[in-house]
Amino acid sequence: MALCPCCSGYAFEECCASILAGTPAPTVVALMRSRYTAYVTGNIDYIEQTCARNAREEFNCPEVERYIDEMDWQGLDILRVTEGGAEDERGFVDFAFHLKHKGKPYTQREIATFERIDGRWYYTDSEVNPKGKTVHAEKIGRNDPCPCGSEKKYKKCCGS
Ligand SMILES: [Zn+2]
Ligand SMILES: [Zn+2]
Repeated sequence: MALCPCCSGYAFEECCASILAGTPAPTVVALMRSRYTAYVTGNIDYIEQTCARNAREEFNCPEVERYIDEMDWQGLDILRVTEGGAEDERGFVDFAFHLKHKGKPYTQREIATFERIDGRWYYTDSEVNPKGKTVHAEKIGRNDPCPCGSEKKYKKCCGS
């Protein structure tokens, strides 16, 4: 059984599969993971459908289609979740994703905002690199703290 691309450690069938197929994500983390899986698998329609109206207007399909093909997705770390449970109207996910673009490793940290509209979670917007620094993973030593902010050593986290 294949592990889910979202790095949850669960099988795809037990993780993002049903959400991608239309079951409402119960929490912001579940939506976040399913959107990451959609990026990995090139499911642009799903990414667009899970954007709130403002985000959907900004979502540029041809551009996403172009870059999504060039990206070699390496992983997702969920660092912190604020609200975003089944009873909430809003939620925030602090996360980092890792990818390779033309062979170069790259890590981006974001804090994404989600809102619940008619019982479904939608992505609203995000603050990119909230600490104001973009980290290029090639400069990181194996024993350095992981740039994703997990507080683990790079070799035990995204560098493994
Ligand atoms: Zn998943
Ligand atoms: Zn990491």
